[in-house]
Amino acid sequence: MKKRGLLLVLSGPSGAGKGTVCRALLKNEPSLRLSVSATTRPPRPGEVDNVDYFFLDSEIFNKMIKDGEFLEYAQVYNNYYGTPQPFVEESLKEGHDIILEIDIQGALQVKEKYPEAVLIFIAPPSKFDLKKRLFSRGADAREVIEKRLHCASDEMKLADRYDYIVVNDQVIRAVERIRSIIIAEKSRPHNFKRLLNSFN
Ligand code: 5GP
Repeated sequence: MKKRGLLLVLSGPSGAGKGTVCRALLKNEPSLRLSVSATTRPPRPGEVDNVDYFFLDSEIFNKMIKDGEFLEYAQVYNNYYGTPQPFVEESLKEGHDIILEIDIQGALQVKEKYPEAVLIFIAPPSKFDLKKRLFSRGADAREVIEKRLHCASDEMKLADRYDYIVVNDQVIRAVERIRSIIIAEKSRPHNFKRLLNSFN
């Protein structure tokens, strides 16, 4: 029997840089598989269907909810997002490590279904820093940024429900910290049952 893969869940407030950290991590750890989420949000310029997301209309998304096809799903900023279950389950069974970049509501649902999942919260170095990052993107209106900052305060309050907090002061350092977490998690005794049993 193959050793089950590691299920990593990455979340954090908008502007903490979790997308950038996730992409850099995937480059550094080519064996890591990314779960592609489904969403009812329309694609942004440059986003590709089936690569960045499975872009679905609400009707299909609702049918998938009814049919129990999501490992978790949540409403985030007026749109629905969900993780298709089969890809995650098959990857884990085949021994592949898998990463989900999802919001906090989703992360907590995953932990209920898979208590062995490793929840990592990507935090900005400070509130000031988060504000600076959101404003320097230049992409959003002031009210949108204010709303995101307000959400960030609420999200930071839930960070203690995670297994680890990684401060994204520098992307390279954040990636190194996550790689250390992966090594530590793979060193837990339950991963060595066969070795330990072989001494019986
Ligand atoms: P965006 O629309 O900017 O790509 O994503 C908005 C938020 O939705 C982000 O916080 C992102 O992590 C979250 N998200 C993306 N996919 C999923 C998913 O499958 N499930 C949940 N719960 N959240 C998701």
